Amino acid sequence: MAHELKRHTISIRKGDTVQVMSGRDVGKSGRVLSVNPRKNTVIVEHTHLIKRHTRPNPSKNIKGGIVEREAPINVSNVLIVCSSCNKHTRLGHNVSPDGTKVRVCKRCGTTLDK
Ligand SMILES: [Zn+2]
Repeated sequence: MAHELKRHTISIRKGDTVQVMSGRDVGKSGRVLSVNPRKNTVIVEHTHLIKRHTRPNPSKNIKGGIVEREAPINVSNVLIVCSSCNKHTRLGHNVSPDGTKVRVCKRCGTTLDK
């Protein structure tokens, strides 16, 4: 039986604006701070915050308490927000005249890579 090779190509990149499509932060949008292709997750600014308790560590000048940090979100739960039509969209791919692959908005066709 042939197994279909599943390739995880994350089309979201650091610096993109994405909107959360499911989970407790649904509807929130923010800038992508980092992408983890191995885990298929992204970290989005000000979304999916988790509270972390930190212990005071005077030698490192760390005050104890609760710190809110962004937690990774699976890429399947976010969609890129098109800078042109300002809506969340799926991505298409185009090859530009110089041969490089570019990402395009499937709604309005705008190239999202500069
Ligand atoms: Zn668009």
